[in-house]
Amino acid sequence: MFRQKDIEMISRRALEELQMKRLKQTVRQAYKNIPFYKEYFSKLHIQPKDIASLKDIRKLPFTTREDLREYYPFGMLAVTKEQVVRLHTSSGTTGKPKAIFFTKKDVDRAAELIARCLIMTGVAKDDVLQNMMTYGLFTGALVMHYGAEKVGVLVIPAGPGNTKRQIALMQDFKTTTLHITPSYALYLASVMQNEGLDPQKNFTLRRAYLGSEPYSEETRKKIEKFFHIDVYNSYGLSEMNGPGVAFECREKNGMHLWEDNFIMEIIDPDTGETKPDGEKGELVLTTLYREAMPILRYRTSDITRILPGKCKCGRTHRRISRIIGRTDDMIIVRGVNIFPQQIERVLMGIKAVAQNYQIVLESYDQMTVRVEIVKELFDGKVDHLVNLRNEITEKIRSEILVRPKVELLEPGTLPVSEGKSIRVIDKRTL
Ligand code: AMP
Ligand code: ZN
Repeated sequence: MFRQKDIEMISRRALEELQMKRLKQTVRQAYKNIPFYKEYFSKLHIQPKDIASLKDIRKLPFTTREDLREYYPFGMLAVTKEQVVRLHTSSGTTGKPKAIFFTKKDVDRAAELIARCLIMTGVAKDDVLQNMMTYGLFTGALVMHYGAEKVGVLVIPAGPGNTKRQIALMQDFKTTTLHITPSYALYLASVMQNEGLDPQKNFTLRRAYLGSEPYSEETRKKIEKFFHIDVYNSYGLSEMNGPGVAFECREKNGMHLWEDNFIMEIIDPDTGETKPDGEKGELVLTTLYREAMPILRYRTSDITRILPGKCKCGRTHRRISRIIGRTDDMIIVRGVNIFPQQIERVLMGIKAVAQNYQIVLESYDQMTVRVEIVKELFDGKVDHLVNLRNEITEKIRSEILVRPKVELLEPGTLPVSEGKSIRVIDKRTL
C-alpha cells in the first residue's frame, strides 16, 4: 500500500533526489530499448551518462505527438509484447492514432496516482463514484475506475450519455462523486433543471471531478452552484497514463502535479526555451515511473504555468494553473490570438446564458458566437434580447479585442456532446 502522506509531503530535496534517480533509470531504459531515442541521442551526441543533474534534462530531445504517430503501433515500446497487459489509444482529430501501452506495474501505478487524488479530495470507502467518462480505448474512464477501486469506493461504470438513466443511477445508488467532462456536466444540469429536479433535495452529491477538456473558473462556479458540490479540476493525457497527472486538492487553487512520477517543464512553444515558474507556456512532461512506455520531454501542447509558492495543504508537489488552452486550438481572427476559453469565461459569467455555445469562424475577419440563453427570455418581446446581445457582444469584445457577431438561441438548439465538445467550427478550412 502507498504511504500517502510520506510521498505527498516529501521535502523538496528528497523529491528531487527521487526524481534524479528515476530520471537516470528512465533515460537508460529509453536509450537501450527504443531505437527512436537511441538515434536521437546519437544525433545530438549525448549518452545517458550525460544526464547527471535535473537541469541536464534540457539536453534531451523533445518528443512530439508526430513522433508517437510515426512510430505507431509498437515503435515506442520499451518492453516485450509479452510484458504488456493493456493498450489505450489517443485519437486526436486527425491522422494516425497514438498507442499507449501499460505493463501490470504501469496499470497499478496509474491507479495509485488516481487513488492519491481521490483521497486528497476527501473520498472514503463509503463514497459512490459514477464514472461518466467514455470507457474503451480512451484512458479517461478506465484509469479512474482502477484508482477508485483501489480506494475501495463503489464505482458505477456508467460511461457518458443516456442522461435519464444517469439520473436514475445517481438516485438509486446514492452517488456522491461524479467523474465527468465539463460540457456533459452542463448538459446534465440542464436536463435536471427541465425535469424540475433539485440537486440539493433529490440527490446525495458531494463532489465532481471535471477534466479532459479546457474549461473556465466561471464554468466551475456555475456547476458548483447548480449541483451544490465541490468541483475539482483533474488534468491528464493518455500519453502520460490518462487522468491523475495533476489534480486539485481541497484548496481548489491550482493542480498538484505528481512530481515523483513526472518531471514538468514550461517552455516557450516557439523557441523551446525553458521558462521560470510563474510564466505561461507549453507544458512539457517526462515520465519517471513507467515501464512500457517511457517518454522524454513530451510536448503536451497545453498552455499553463507553474504556480509559485507553497500550497496551504502542505503538499510539496508544485501546482499548475488551469489549462489556458492548447497551442493548437488558438484561433486567429483579425490578426488577434484568441483561446476559445476566453469567450467561455465571459459567457459563463453572464446569468442569462444557459449551458451551450459554439464559436463559428466565418472568415479571417469575422466570427460568430452562437449562445443558448435561458428559456424565459424568449417571451415574444425583443427589447431585452437586443440588450442582452449588446451586453454579450461588448463583454466579449473587451476580453478578446475583436467584436464578434452574437446569435442568441433557445436552449437545446446546439448539438450536445457527451465526450469532448467541439466548440469551434472553422468554416475557413471546410
Ligand atoms: P486525451 O489524450 O484524449 O486524454 O486528452 C488529453 C488532453 O485533454 C490534454 O492534453 C488537454 O488538452 C485536455 N485536458 C485534459 N484534462 C484537462 C483539464 N482538466 N483542463 C483542460 N484540458 C484538459
Ligand atoms: Zn494543495
